[in-house]
Amino acid sequence: MTDIDHLKALVRSVPDFPVPGILFYDVTTLLKDRKGFATLVDALAEQYVDHNADLVLGIEARGFIFGPALAYRLGAGFVPVRKPGKLPAETIAADYELEYGNNRLEIHTDAVRPGQRVIIVDDLLATGGTAAATVELVTALGGEVIGLGFVIELDFLHGRDKLAGHDVFSLLRYD
Ligand code: IMP
Repeated sequence: MTDIDHLKALVRSVPDFPVPGILFYDVTTLLKDRKGFATLVDALAEQYVDHNADLVLGIEARGFIFGPALAYRLGAGFVPVRKPGKLPAETIAADYELEYGNNRLEIHTDAVRPGQRVIIVDDLLATGGTAAATVELVTALGGEVIGLGFVIELDFLHGRDKLAGHDVFSLLRYD
Protein backbone atom coordinates (compact mmCIF):
# COMPACT_ATOMS: atom_id res chain seq x y z
CA MET A 1 0.00 0.00 0.00
CA THR A 2 1.37 3.46 -0.87
CA ASP A 3 1.33 6.24 1.72
CA ILE A 4 -1.56 7.83 -0.16
CA ASP A 5 -3.62 4.62 -0.16
CA HIS A 6 -2.82 4.18 3.52
CA LEU A 7 -4.03 7.73 4.30
CA LYS A 8 -7.16 7.27 2.18
CA ALA A 9 -7.97 4.09 4.07
CA LEU A 10 -7.80 6.07 7.32
CA VAL A 11 -10.41 8.67 6.23
CA ARG A 12 -13.93 7.75 7.31
CA SER A 13 -16.83 8.65 5.01
CA VAL A 14 -20.14 9.34 6.72
CA PRO A 15 -23.29 9.40 4.58
CA ASP A 16 -25.96 12.07 5.16
CA PHE A 17 -23.88 14.35 7.40
CA PRO A 18 -24.51 17.16 8.24
CA VAL A 19 -27.61 17.00 6.01
CA PRO A 20 -29.19 14.25 3.89
CA GLY A 21 -27.43 13.68 0.57
CA ILE A 22 -23.96 14.84 1.70
CA LEU A 23 -21.17 12.28 2.00
CA PHE A 24 -18.91 13.73 4.69
CA TYR A 25 -15.20 12.87 4.69
CA ASP A 26 -14.13 12.66 8.32
CA VAL A 27 -10.39 13.21 8.89
CA THR A 28 -10.51 12.55 12.66
CA THR A 29 -9.90 8.86 12.02
CA LEU A 30 -6.71 9.78 10.11
CA LEU A 31 -5.55 12.30 12.72
CA LYS A 32 -5.75 9.85 15.60
CA ASP A 33 -3.53 7.38 13.78
CA ARG A 34 0.06 8.19 14.78
CA LYS A 35 1.62 7.12 11.50
CA GLY A 36 -1.20 8.70 9.52
CA PHE A 37 -0.86 12.04 11.27
CA ALA A 38 2.91 12.08 10.87
CA THR A 39 2.66 11.13 7.18
CA LEU A 40 0.11 13.89 6.61
CA VAL A 41 2.20 16.63 8.25
CA ASP A 42 5.39 15.36 6.59
CA ALA A 43 3.77 15.41 3.14
CA LEU A 44 2.50 18.98 3.59
CA ALA A 45 5.85 20.12 4.98
CA GLU A 46 7.68 18.52 2.05
CA GLN A 47 5.43 20.39 -0.36
CA TYR A 48 6.11 23.78 1.22
CA VAL A 49 9.59 23.49 2.70
CA ASP A 50 11.16 25.63 -0.05
CA HIS A 51 8.40 28.25 -0.16
CA ASN A 52 9.89 30.55 2.49
CA ALA A 53 6.47 31.06 4.10
CA ASP A 54 6.01 33.68 6.83
CA LEU A 55 2.60 32.43 7.93
CA VAL A 56 0.33 29.40 7.79
CA LEU A 57 -3.35 30.36 7.92
CA GLY A 58 -5.70 27.68 9.25
CA ILE A 59 -9.42 27.84 8.52
CA GLU A 60 -11.77 27.06 11.43
CA ALA A 61 -12.13 24.41 12.59
CA ARG A 62 -10.18 21.53 11.10
CA GLY A 63 -7.51 23.81 9.63
CA PHE A 64 -6.59 24.47 13.28
CA ILE A 65 -5.64 20.85 13.83
CA PHE A 66 -2.76 20.38 11.43
CA GLY A 67 -2.07 24.02 10.43
CA PRO A 68 0.00 24.70 13.57
CA ALA A 69 1.94 21.44 13.09
CA LEU A 70 2.79 22.54 9.55
CA ALA A 71 3.71 26.07 10.71
CA TYR A 72 6.05 24.58 13.32
CA ARG A 73 7.72 22.37 10.72
CA LEU A 74 8.18 25.32 8.33
CA GLY A 75 9.37 27.76 10.97
CA ALA A 76 6.39 29.99 10.14
CA GLY A 77 3.79 31.68 12.34
CA PHE A 78 0.20 30.46 12.60
CA VAL A 79 -2.91 32.59 12.06
CA PRO A 80 -6.50 31.43 12.71
CA VAL A 81 -9.25 32.40 10.27
CA ARG A 82 -12.49 32.13 12.23
CA LYS A 83 -16.27 32.04 12.09
CA PRO A 84 -17.98 35.36 12.99
CA GLY A 85 -17.67 36.83 16.47
CA LYS A 86 -14.85 34.61 17.72
CA LEU A 87 -11.82 36.88 17.29
CA PRO A 88 -11.44 39.50 20.03
CA ALA A 89 -9.65 42.38 18.27
CA GLU A 90 -10.41 44.36 15.09
CA THR A 91 -11.33 42.11 12.15
CA ILE A 92 -12.25 42.15 8.48
CA ALA A 93 -14.75 39.66 7.03
CA ALA A 94 -15.51 37.83 3.80
CA ASP A 95 -18.81 36.11 2.96
CA TYR A 96 -18.94 32.82 1.07
CA GLU A 97 -21.20 29.96 0.07
CA LEU A 98 -20.64 26.49 1.49
CA GLU A 99 -21.58 23.12 -0.03
CA TYR A 100 -24.39 23.23 2.55
CA GLY A 101 -25.29 26.86 3.41
CA ASN A 102 -23.76 30.33 3.69
CA ASN A 103 -21.13 31.58 6.03
CA ARG A 104 -18.68 34.32 6.86
CA LEU A 105 -15.02 34.20 7.85
CA GLU A 106 -13.04 36.75 9.82
CA ILE A 107 -9.37 37.53 10.39
CA HIS A 108 -7.65 40.01 12.68
CA THR A 109 -6.63 43.10 10.70
CA ASP A 110 -3.11 42.87 12.15
CA ALA A 111 -2.74 39.13 11.50
CA VAL A 112 -1.02 39.54 8.12
CA ARG A 113 1.34 42.39 7.25
CA PRO A 114 1.66 43.66 3.66
CA GLY A 115 4.08 41.50 1.65
CA GLN A 116 4.01 38.51 4.01
CA ARG A 117 4.06 35.12 2.32
CA VAL A 118 1.07 33.03 3.36
CA ILE A 119 0.06 29.38 3.00
CA ILE A 120 -3.65 28.66 3.57
CA VAL A 121 -4.64 25.23 4.89
CA ASP A 122 -7.89 23.40 5.49
CA ASP A 123 -8.96 19.78 5.74
CA LEU A 124 -11.03 19.68 2.57
CA LEU A 125 -11.52 21.56 -0.71
CA ALA A 126 -15.10 21.15 -1.94
CA THR A 127 -16.67 24.00 -3.98
CA GLY A 128 -13.75 26.30 -3.11
CA GLY A 129 -15.90 29.04 -1.57
CA THR A 130 -14.26 28.83 1.85
CA ALA A 131 -10.74 28.91 0.46
CA ALA A 132 -11.57 31.73 -2.01
CA ALA A 133 -12.98 33.84 0.85
CA THR A 134 -9.76 33.24 2.79
CA VAL A 135 -7.67 34.31 -0.21
CA GLU A 136 -9.80 37.48 -0.28
CA LEU A 137 -8.99 38.18 3.38
CA VAL A 138 -5.24 37.70 2.90
CA THR A 139 -5.22 39.85 -0.24
CA ALA A 140 -7.23 42.61 1.48
CA LEU A 141 -4.52 42.78 4.15
CA GLY A 142 -1.77 42.96 1.51
CA GLY A 143 -0.45 39.43 2.04
CA GLU A 144 0.72 37.16 -0.76
CA VAL A 145 -0.93 33.73 -0.99
CA ILE A 146 1.91 31.45 -2.04
CA GLY A 147 -0.02 28.19 -1.66
CA LEU A 148 -3.22 26.50 -0.57
CA GLY A 149 -2.90 23.05 0.99
CA PHE A 150 -5.67 20.55 1.70
CA VAL A 151 -5.82 17.04 3.04
CA ILE A 152 -8.73 16.13 0.73
CA GLU A 153 -10.00 17.53 -2.57
CA LEU A 154 -13.37 16.60 -4.05
CA ASP A 155 -12.41 16.88 -7.73
CA PHE A 156 -15.99 16.66 -9.00
CA LEU A 157 -16.88 19.98 -7.33
CA HIS A 158 -14.11 21.84 -9.23
CA GLY A 159 -13.13 23.95 -6.24
CA ARG A 160 -9.75 24.75 -7.79
CA ASP A 161 -11.50 26.73 -10.53
CA LYS A 162 -12.34 29.35 -7.88
CA LEU A 163 -8.65 29.45 -6.95
CA ALA A 164 -7.33 29.97 -10.49
CA GLY A 165 -3.85 31.45 -10.58
CA HIS A 166 -2.97 29.99 -7.19
CA ASP A 167 -0.79 27.04 -6.30
CA VAL A 168 -3.25 24.42 -4.99
CA PHE A 169 -2.03 21.17 -3.43
CA SER A 170 -4.14 18.34 -2.01
CA LEU A 171 -2.92 15.10 -0.63
CA LEU A 172 -5.96 12.89 -1.26
CA ARG A 173 -8.17 13.41 -4.28
CA TYR A 174 -11.62 11.92 -4.81
CA ASP A 175 -13.46 11.79 -8.18
P1 IMP B 1 -16.13 24.56 0.18
O1 IMP B 1 -16.19 25.99 0.64
O2 IMP B 1 -17.35 24.14 -0.57
O3 IMP B 1 -14.85 24.26 -0.56
O4 IMP B 1 -16.15 23.65 1.47
C1 IMP B 1 -15.01 23.41 2.22
C2 IMP B 1 -15.27 23.64 3.67
O5 IMP B 1 -16.35 22.85 4.10
C3 IMP B 1 -14.06 23.24 4.47
O6 IMP B 1 -13.87 24.18 5.56
C4 IMP B 1 -14.39 21.88 4.99
O7 IMP B 1 -13.92 21.68 6.30
C5 IMP B 1 -15.90 21.82 4.93
N1 IMP B 1 -16.36 20.55 4.33
C6 IMP B 1 -17.14 20.41 3.23
N2 IMP B 1 -17.37 19.12 2.97
C7 IMP B 1 -16.70 18.42 3.90
C8 IMP B 1 -16.49 17.03 4.15
O8 IMP B 1 -16.98 16.12 3.45
N3 IMP B 1 -15.70 16.73 5.21
C9 IMP B 1 -15.12 17.67 5.98
N4 IMP B 1 -15.30 18.96 5.78
C10 IMP B 1 -16.07 19.35 4.75
